[in-house]
Amino acid sequence: MKNSTFNIQHSTFAAELHAELAALDERGLRRRRHILESPQGAHVVVDGREVVAFCSNDYLGLAADPRLAAAAREGAERYGVGAGASHLILGHATAHHALEAALARFVNLPRALLFSTGYMANLGIVTALAARGDAVFADKLNHASLNDAVLLSRADFKRYPHRDLAALEKLLAASKVRRRLVVTDAVFSMDGDIAPVPDLLRLCERYDAWLVLDDAHGFGVLGATGGGVLQHFGVASGRIVYMATLGKAAGVFGAFVAGENDLIEILVQRARPYIYTTAMPPLLANALLASLEIIAAESWRRERLTRLIHQLKQGMAGLRWRLMPSDTAIQPLRIGANDEALRVSAALAARGVLVPAIRPPTVPRGSARLRISLSAAHSEQDVAQLVGALRVVEKES
Ligand SMILES: *Cc1c(COP(=O)(O)O)cnc(C)c1O
Repeated sequence: MKNSTFNIQHSTFAAELHAELAALDERGLRRRRHILESPQGAHVVVDGREVVAFCSNDYLGLAADPRLAAAAREGAERYGVGAGASHLILGHATAHHALEAALARFVNLPRALLFSTGYMANLGIVTALAARGDAVFADKLNHASLNDAVLLSRADFKRYPHRDLAALEKLLAASKVRRRLVVTDAVFSMDGDIAPVPDLLRLCERYDAWLVLDDAHGFGVLGATGGGVLQHFGVASGRIVYMATLGKAAGVFGAFVAGENDLIEILVQRARPYIYTTAMPPLLANALLASLEIIAAESWRRERLTRLIHQLKQGMAGLRWRLMPSDTAIQPLRIGANDEALRVSAALAARGVLVPAIRPPTVPRGSARLRISLSAAHSEQDVAQLVGALRVVEKES
Protein backbone atom coordinates (compact mmCIF):
# COMPACT_ATOMS: atom_id res chain seq x y z
CA MET A 1 0.00 0.00 0.00
CA LYS A 2 2.00 2.99 -1.17
CA ASN A 3 -0.80 5.41 -1.84
CA SER A 4 -1.62 6.55 1.67
CA THR A 5 -0.72 10.02 2.75
CA PHE A 6 0.10 9.66 6.43
CA ASN A 7 3.47 10.88 7.65
CA ILE A 8 4.09 9.52 11.10
CA GLN A 9 7.80 9.37 11.82
CA HIS A 10 9.13 6.13 13.30
CA SER A 11 5.62 4.74 13.45
CA THR A 12 4.85 1.31 14.71
CA PHE A 13 3.04 -1.13 12.45
CA ALA A 14 -0.22 -0.54 14.35
CA ALA A 15 0.10 3.25 14.12
CA GLU A 16 0.68 3.02 10.38
CA LEU A 17 -2.43 0.95 9.87
CA HIS A 18 -4.43 3.32 12.05
CA ALA A 19 -3.26 6.30 10.01
CA GLU A 20 -4.06 4.51 6.78
CA LEU A 21 -7.63 3.94 7.98
CA ALA A 22 -7.91 7.58 9.06
CA ALA A 23 -6.81 8.63 5.56
CA LEU A 24 -9.59 6.51 4.07
CA ASP A 25 -12.10 8.25 6.34
CA GLU A 26 -10.79 11.65 5.35
CA ARG A 27 -11.22 10.91 1.64
CA GLY A 28 -14.70 9.42 2.06
CA LEU A 29 -13.38 6.02 0.99
CA ARG A 30 -13.91 3.92 4.12
CA ARG A 31 -16.22 1.01 3.34
CA ARG A 32 -18.65 -0.30 5.94
CA ARG A 33 -20.74 -3.43 6.10
CA HIS A 34 -24.42 -3.56 6.88
CA ILE A 35 -25.94 -6.55 8.63
CA LEU A 36 -28.58 -8.30 6.49
CA GLU A 37 -31.07 -9.96 8.82
CA SER A 38 -33.48 -11.38 6.22
CA PRO A 39 -33.10 -13.42 3.03
CA GLN A 40 -31.84 -11.50 -0.01
CA GLY A 41 -34.69 -9.83 -1.90
CA ALA A 42 -36.45 -6.60 -2.83
CA HIS A 43 -37.64 -5.99 0.73
CA VAL A 44 -35.02 -6.79 3.32
CA VAL A 45 -34.26 -6.16 6.98
CA VAL A 46 -30.96 -4.34 7.37
CA ASP A 47 -29.47 -3.26 10.68
CA GLY A 48 -32.90 -3.79 12.28
CA ARG A 49 -34.88 -1.77 9.69
CA GLU A 50 -37.12 -2.87 6.87
CA VAL A 51 -36.09 -1.26 3.57
CA VAL A 52 -36.48 -1.60 -0.20
CA ALA A 53 -33.08 -2.59 -1.56
CA PHE A 54 -31.54 -2.02 -4.99
CA CYS A 55 -28.18 -3.50 -4.03
CA SER A 56 -28.07 -7.14 -5.02
CA ASN A 57 -26.97 -9.09 -8.09
CA ASP A 58 -29.95 -11.36 -7.57
CA TYR A 59 -31.36 -10.18 -10.92
CA LEU A 60 -33.99 -12.89 -11.29
CA GLY A 61 -35.05 -12.98 -7.64
CA LEU A 62 -33.91 -16.59 -7.16
CA ALA A 63 -31.55 -16.27 -4.17
CA ALA A 64 -34.35 -16.95 -1.70
CA ASP A 65 -36.55 -19.11 -3.94
CA PRO A 66 -38.01 -21.97 -1.85
CA ARG A 67 -37.51 -24.46 -4.72
CA LEU A 68 -33.77 -23.80 -4.62
CA ALA A 69 -33.71 -24.11 -0.85
CA ALA A 70 -35.57 -27.44 -1.16
CA ALA A 71 -33.02 -28.69 -3.72
CA ALA A 72 -30.21 -27.65 -1.36
CA ARG A 73 -31.83 -29.58 1.52
CA GLU A 74 -32.26 -32.61 -0.71
CA GLY A 75 -28.59 -32.28 -1.66
CA ALA A 76 -27.59 -32.09 2.01
CA GLU A 77 -29.52 -35.27 2.73
CA ARG A 78 -27.89 -37.09 -0.13
CA TYR A 79 -24.31 -35.75 0.12
CA GLY A 80 -23.93 -34.17 3.55
CA VAL A 81 -22.50 -30.68 3.81
CA GLY A 82 -18.87 -30.55 2.74
CA ALA A 83 -17.29 -31.86 -0.47
CA GLY A 84 -14.37 -32.97 1.68
CA ALA A 85 -11.74 -32.83 -1.07
CA SER A 86 -10.74 -31.03 -4.25
CA HIS A 87 -12.32 -32.08 -7.57
CA LEU A 88 -9.18 -33.94 -8.67
CA ILE A 89 -8.85 -35.96 -5.48
CA LEU A 90 -12.30 -37.21 -4.44
CA GLY A 91 -14.52 -34.14 -4.17
CA HIS A 92 -16.22 -34.32 -7.59
CA ALA A 93 -19.73 -35.61 -6.83
CA THR A 94 -22.55 -36.77 -9.11
CA ALA A 95 -24.31 -33.42 -8.67
CA HIS A 96 -21.18 -31.47 -9.79
CA HIS A 97 -20.83 -33.69 -12.83
CA ALA A 98 -24.50 -33.37 -13.79
CA LEU A 99 -24.35 -29.60 -13.30
CA GLU A 100 -21.33 -29.27 -15.62
CA ALA A 101 -23.18 -31.14 -18.35
CA ALA A 102 -26.30 -29.01 -17.81
CA LEU A 103 -24.28 -25.77 -17.91
CA ALA A 104 -22.57 -26.74 -21.18
CA ARG A 105 -25.96 -27.45 -22.75
CA PHE A 106 -27.36 -24.23 -21.30
CA VAL A 107 -24.77 -22.01 -22.99
CA ASN A 108 -24.50 -24.25 -26.05
CA LEU A 109 -20.77 -24.99 -25.76
CA PRO A 110 -19.04 -28.41 -25.82
CA ARG A 111 -17.93 -28.63 -22.18
CA ALA A 112 -18.12 -26.74 -18.89
CA LEU A 113 -16.03 -26.77 -15.71
CA LEU A 114 -17.21 -25.65 -12.27
CA PHE A 115 -15.13 -23.30 -10.12
CA SER A 116 -15.78 -22.34 -6.51
CA THR A 117 -16.05 -18.61 -7.29
CA GLY A 118 -15.90 -16.28 -10.29
CA TYR A 119 -12.81 -14.64 -8.88
CA MET A 120 -11.05 -17.98 -8.90
CA ALA A 121 -12.35 -18.90 -12.35
CA ASN A 122 -10.83 -15.74 -13.80
CA LEU A 123 -7.50 -16.36 -12.07
CA GLY A 124 -7.63 -19.93 -13.38
CA ILE A 125 -8.42 -19.06 -16.99
CA VAL A 126 -5.79 -16.38 -17.49
CA THR A 127 -2.96 -18.08 -15.59
CA ALA A 128 -3.57 -21.38 -17.37
CA LEU A 129 -3.68 -19.82 -20.84
CA ALA A 130 -1.10 -17.00 -20.67
CA ALA A 131 2.36 -16.66 -19.21
CA ARG A 132 5.45 -14.48 -19.44
CA GLY A 133 6.05 -13.78 -23.14
CA ASP A 134 2.33 -13.75 -23.99
CA ALA A 135 0.02 -10.71 -24.05
CA VAL A 136 -3.39 -10.04 -22.55
CA PHE A 137 -5.50 -7.20 -23.95
CA ALA A 138 -8.03 -5.90 -21.44
CA ASP A 139 -10.81 -3.32 -21.35
CA LYS A 140 -9.94 -0.61 -18.81
CA LEU A 141 -13.25 -1.12 -16.97
CA ASN A 142 -12.84 -4.87 -16.51
CA HIS A 143 -13.65 -6.45 -13.15
CA ALA A 144 -10.83 -6.47 -10.58
CA SER A 145 -10.58 -10.27 -10.71
CA LEU A 146 -9.63 -10.16 -14.41
CA ASN A 147 -6.97 -7.53 -13.72
CA ASP A 148 -5.54 -9.53 -10.83
CA ALA A 149 -5.54 -12.60 -13.06
CA VAL A 150 -3.37 -10.88 -15.67
CA LEU A 151 -0.90 -9.66 -13.04
CA LEU A 152 -0.65 -13.17 -11.61
CA SER A 153 -0.04 -14.66 -15.08
CA ARG A 154 3.00 -12.37 -15.67
CA ALA A 155 1.88 -11.88 -19.28
CA ASP A 156 2.24 -8.48 -20.89
CA PHE A 157 -0.76 -6.41 -19.69
CA LYS A 158 -2.19 -4.16 -22.44
CA ARG A 159 -5.24 -2.15 -21.40
CA TYR A 160 -7.42 -0.37 -23.94
CA PRO A 161 -9.95 2.43 -23.28
CA HIS A 162 -13.46 1.22 -22.52
CA ARG A 163 -15.03 -0.51 -25.57
CA ASP A 164 -12.52 1.22 -27.89
CA LEU A 165 -12.16 -1.22 -30.79
CA ALA A 166 -9.78 1.00 -32.77
CA ALA A 167 -7.39 1.24 -29.81
CA LEU A 168 -7.59 -2.53 -29.31
CA GLU A 169 -6.90 -3.17 -32.98
CA LYS A 170 -3.78 -0.98 -32.86
CA LEU A 171 -2.46 -2.91 -29.88
CA LEU A 172 -3.21 -6.27 -31.52
CA ALA A 173 -1.64 -5.24 -34.83
CA ALA A 174 1.58 -4.19 -33.07
CA SER A 175 1.83 -7.37 -31.01
CA LYS A 176 4.39 -10.01 -31.97
CA VAL A 177 4.00 -12.39 -29.06
CA ARG A 178 3.34 -16.13 -29.17
CA ARG A 179 -0.17 -16.01 -27.70
CA ARG A 180 -2.78 -13.26 -27.46
CA LEU A 181 -5.83 -13.17 -25.15
CA VAL A 182 -8.50 -10.48 -25.28
CA VAL A 183 -10.36 -10.39 -21.94
CA THR A 184 -13.49 -8.40 -21.21
CA ASP A 185 -16.53 -8.16 -18.98
CA ALA A 186 -19.52 -9.06 -21.17
CA VAL A 187 -21.77 -6.77 -19.11
CA PHE A 188 -19.65 -4.21 -17.25
CA SER A 189 -20.29 -4.62 -13.56
CA MET A 190 -20.31 -0.96 -12.51
CA ASP A 191 -21.61 0.55 -15.77
CA GLY A 192 -24.16 -1.96 -17.03
CA ASP A 193 -23.24 -1.57 -20.69
CA ILE A 194 -22.53 -4.56 -22.93
CA ALA A 195 -19.22 -5.35 -24.65
CA PRO A 196 -19.35 -5.35 -28.49
CA VAL A 197 -18.81 -9.10 -28.62
CA PRO A 198 -19.29 -9.69 -32.40
CA ASP A 199 -16.76 -6.92 -33.19
CA LEU A 200 -14.33 -8.24 -30.59
CA LEU A 201 -14.63 -11.69 -32.11
CA ARG A 202 -13.85 -10.34 -35.59
CA LEU A 203 -10.71 -8.65 -34.24
CA CYS A 204 -9.69 -11.87 -32.48
CA GLU A 205 -10.06 -13.78 -35.74
CA ARG A 206 -8.09 -11.18 -37.71
CA TYR A 207 -5.20 -11.11 -35.22
CA ASP A 208 -5.33 -14.74 -34.06
CA ALA A 209 -6.31 -14.02 -30.48
CA TRP A 210 -8.67 -15.80 -28.08
CA LEU A 211 -11.62 -14.05 -26.51
CA VAL A 212 -12.27 -14.46 -22.77
CA LEU A 213 -15.80 -13.29 -21.85
CA ASP A 214 -16.75 -12.69 -18.21
CA ASP A 215 -20.55 -12.92 -18.31
CA ALA A 216 -21.12 -12.60 -14.54
CA HIS A 217 -23.96 -10.11 -15.13
CA GLY A 218 -25.34 -11.51 -18.40
CA PHE A 219 -25.78 -15.20 -17.60
CA GLY A 220 -29.43 -15.94 -16.84
CA VAL A 221 -30.50 -12.42 -17.79
CA LEU A 222 -29.51 -11.85 -21.43
CA GLY A 223 -30.92 -13.95 -24.27
CA ALA A 224 -34.37 -15.45 -24.78
CA THR A 225 -33.82 -18.35 -22.36
CA GLY A 226 -31.19 -16.65 -20.21
CA GLY A 227 -28.31 -18.23 -22.12
CA GLY A 228 -26.29 -15.04 -21.62
CA VAL A 229 -24.29 -12.77 -23.88
CA LEU A 230 -23.60 -15.42 -26.57
CA GLN A 231 -27.32 -16.06 -26.95
CA HIS A 232 -28.00 -12.31 -26.87
CA PHE A 233 -25.73 -11.73 -29.88
CA GLY A 234 -26.27 -15.15 -31.50
CA VAL A 235 -22.51 -15.73 -31.78
CA ALA A 236 -20.46 -18.92 -31.53
CA SER A 237 -16.76 -19.54 -32.02
CA GLY A 238 -14.06 -21.97 -31.01
CA ARG A 239 -12.02 -18.95 -29.91
CA ILE A 240 -14.37 -18.10 -27.08
CA VAL A 241 -13.54 -18.85 -23.45
CA TYR A 242 -16.86 -18.24 -21.72
CA MET A 243 -17.04 -17.65 -17.98
CA ALA A 244 -20.08 -16.88 -15.83
CA THR A 245 -20.83 -16.78 -12.14
CA LEU A 246 -23.59 -18.67 -10.34
CA GLY A 247 -24.00 -16.37 -7.33
CA LYS A 248 -25.75 -13.59 -9.26
CA ALA A 249 -28.78 -14.27 -11.50
CA ALA A 250 -28.55 -18.01 -10.76
CA GLY A 251 -29.07 -17.15 -7.10
CA VAL A 252 -26.65 -19.62 -5.52
CA PHE A 253 -22.83 -19.57 -5.50
CA GLY A 254 -19.92 -20.56 -7.69
CA ALA A 255 -18.89 -20.09 -11.31
CA PHE A 256 -18.07 -22.03 -14.45
CA VAL A 257 -15.98 -21.82 -17.59
CA ALA A 258 -17.27 -23.23 -20.87
CA GLY A 259 -15.69 -23.79 -24.27
CA GLU A 260 -13.99 -26.38 -26.49
CA ASN A 261 -13.13 -29.78 -25.00
CA ASP A 262 -9.36 -29.28 -25.08
CA LEU A 263 -9.63 -25.84 -23.51
CA ILE A 264 -11.59 -27.25 -20.57
CA GLU A 265 -9.23 -30.20 -20.23
CA ILE A 266 -6.25 -27.82 -20.09
CA LEU A 267 -7.99 -25.93 -17.28
CA VAL A 268 -8.51 -29.19 -15.37
CA GLN A 269 -4.79 -29.92 -15.76
CA ARG A 270 -3.37 -26.43 -15.26
CA ALA A 271 -5.72 -24.00 -13.52
CA ARG A 272 -4.30 -23.72 -10.00
CA PRO A 273 -7.46 -22.16 -8.45
CA TYR A 274 -9.26 -25.27 -9.73
CA ILE A 275 -6.68 -27.81 -8.61
CA TYR A 276 -5.68 -26.49 -5.20
CA THR A 277 -9.03 -25.82 -3.60
CA THR A 278 -11.93 -27.73 -2.10
CA ALA A 279 -14.86 -28.47 -4.41
CA MET A 280 -18.02 -26.45 -3.73
CA PRO A 281 -20.47 -28.31 -1.49
CA PRO A 282 -22.43 -30.71 -3.73
CA LEU A 283 -25.67 -29.47 -2.15
CA LEU A 284 -25.07 -26.16 -3.95
CA ALA A 285 -24.65 -28.00 -7.25
CA ASN A 286 -28.01 -29.63 -6.56
CA ALA A 287 -29.59 -26.21 -5.95
CA LEU A 288 -28.00 -24.93 -9.16
CA LEU A 289 -29.52 -27.76 -11.20
CA ALA A 290 -32.93 -26.56 -9.99
CA SER A 291 -31.99 -22.95 -10.69
CA LEU A 292 -31.07 -23.66 -14.34
CA GLU A 293 -34.50 -25.17 -14.97
CA ILE A 294 -36.24 -22.16 -13.48
CA ILE A 295 -34.05 -19.69 -15.41
CA ALA A 296 -34.95 -21.32 -18.74
CA ALA A 297 -38.62 -21.93 -17.97
CA GLU A 298 -39.65 -18.67 -16.29
CA SER A 299 -38.99 -16.08 -18.96
CA TRP A 300 -41.50 -13.80 -17.17
CA ARG A 301 -38.64 -12.93 -14.83
CA ARG A 302 -36.58 -11.46 -17.69
CA GLU A 303 -39.65 -9.76 -19.14
CA ARG A 304 -40.47 -8.18 -15.80
CA LEU A 305 -36.89 -6.95 -15.44
CA THR A 306 -37.12 -5.33 -18.87
CA ARG A 307 -40.34 -3.54 -17.86
CA LEU A 308 -38.79 -2.28 -14.62
CA ILE A 309 -35.69 -0.97 -16.45
CA HIS A 310 -37.98 0.94 -18.79
CA GLN A 311 -40.03 2.32 -15.88
CA LEU A 312 -36.90 3.52 -14.07
CA LYS A 313 -35.51 5.26 -17.17
CA GLN A 314 -38.81 7.06 -17.79
CA GLY A 315 -39.13 8.03 -14.15
CA MET A 316 -35.65 9.53 -14.03
CA ALA A 317 -36.05 11.74 -17.09
CA GLY A 318 -35.27 15.38 -16.29
CA LEU A 319 -33.33 14.75 -13.09
CA ARG A 320 -30.03 16.57 -12.52
CA TRP A 321 -28.29 13.26 -11.91
CA ARG A 322 -28.28 11.14 -15.04
CA LEU A 323 -28.57 7.41 -15.48
CA MET A 324 -25.55 6.11 -17.37
CA PRO A 325 -26.29 4.50 -20.77
CA SER A 326 -27.31 0.93 -19.94
CA ASP A 327 -30.07 -1.45 -21.01
CA THR A 328 -29.32 -4.07 -18.36
CA ALA A 329 -30.40 -4.54 -14.75
CA ILE A 330 -27.38 -2.45 -13.69
CA GLN A 331 -28.54 1.18 -13.89
CA PRO A 332 -25.87 3.46 -12.43
CA LEU A 333 -26.76 7.02 -11.52
CA ARG A 334 -23.72 9.21 -12.08
CA ILE A 335 -23.00 11.59 -9.18
CA GLY A 336 -19.29 12.47 -9.44
CA ALA A 337 -17.85 13.40 -6.04
CA ASN A 338 -17.37 10.70 -3.40
CA ASP A 339 -18.92 12.69 -0.57
CA GLU A 340 -21.97 13.65 -2.61
CA ALA A 341 -22.54 10.05 -3.66
CA LEU A 342 -22.37 9.03 0.01
CA ARG A 343 -24.72 11.83 1.00
CA VAL A 344 -27.35 10.91 -1.61
CA SER A 345 -27.09 7.25 -0.65
CA ALA A 346 -27.58 8.16 3.04
CA ALA A 347 -30.55 10.45 2.26
CA LEU A 348 -32.22 7.63 0.31
CA ALA A 349 -31.54 5.21 3.16
CA ALA A 350 -33.25 7.64 5.56
CA ARG A 351 -36.32 7.23 3.32
CA GLY A 352 -36.14 3.46 3.47
CA VAL A 353 -34.51 2.96 0.05
CA LEU A 354 -31.11 1.29 -0.13
CA VAL A 355 -28.80 2.00 -3.08
CA PRO A 356 -25.04 1.59 -2.68
CA ALA A 357 -22.62 4.43 -3.43
CA ILE A 358 -19.76 3.08 -5.54
CA ARG A 359 -16.49 4.98 -5.22
CA PRO A 360 -12.89 4.65 -6.39
CA PRO A 361 -10.98 2.40 -6.70
CA THR A 362 -13.98 0.32 -7.84
CA VAL A 363 -14.75 3.04 -10.42
CA PRO A 364 -12.47 5.75 -11.91
CA ARG A 365 -11.83 8.90 -9.85
CA GLY A 366 -14.51 11.55 -10.16
CA SER A 367 -17.13 9.05 -11.34
CA ALA A 368 -18.67 8.03 -8.00
CA ARG A 369 -22.16 6.74 -8.60
CA LEU A 370 -25.19 5.07 -7.14
CA ARG A 371 -25.33 1.57 -8.54
CA ILE A 372 -29.04 0.86 -8.85
CA SER A 373 -29.57 -2.79 -9.56
CA LEU A 374 -33.00 -4.02 -10.47
CA SER A 375 -34.38 -7.49 -9.94
CA ALA A 376 -37.40 -9.48 -11.03
CA ALA A 377 -38.12 -9.55 -7.29
CA HIS A 378 -38.97 -5.82 -7.43
CA SER A 379 -42.48 -4.56 -8.10
CA GLU A 380 -43.52 -1.45 -10.00
CA GLN A 381 -44.31 0.15 -6.62
CA ASP A 382 -40.72 -0.49 -5.48
CA VAL A 383 -39.31 1.30 -8.53
CA ALA A 384 -41.84 4.12 -8.10
CA GLN A 385 -40.69 4.50 -4.48
CA LEU A 386 -37.06 4.74 -5.60
CA VAL A 387 -37.85 7.37 -8.24
CA GLY A 388 -39.97 9.38 -5.79
CA ALA A 389 -37.25 9.32 -3.14
CA LEU A 390 -34.59 10.41 -5.65
CA ARG A 391 -36.71 13.36 -6.74
CA VAL A 392 -37.16 14.50 -3.14
CA VAL A 393 -33.45 14.10 -2.35
CA GLU A 394 -32.50 16.06 -5.48
CA LYS A 395 -34.71 18.99 -4.47
CA GLU A 396 -33.22 19.04 -0.98
CA SER A 397 -29.61 19.08 -2.18
C1 LIG B 1 -18.99 -10.80 -9.25
C2 LIG B 1 -18.03 -10.83 -10.39
C3 LIG B 1 -16.97 -11.74 -10.42
C4 LIG B 1 -16.64 -12.62 -9.25
O1 LIG B 1 -17.55 -13.65 -9.10
P1 LIG B 1 -17.71 -14.33 -7.67
O2 LIG B 1 -18.36 -15.62 -7.95
O3 LIG B 1 -18.54 -13.40 -6.85
O4 LIG B 1 -16.31 -14.48 -7.12
C5 LIG B 1 -16.18 -11.79 -11.55
N1 LIG B 1 -16.41 -10.95 -12.60
C6 LIG B 1 -17.40 -10.05 -12.58
C7 LIG B 1 -17.59 -9.15 -13.76
C8 LIG B 1 -18.21 -9.95 -11.47
O5 LIG B 1 -19.18 -9.02 -11.43
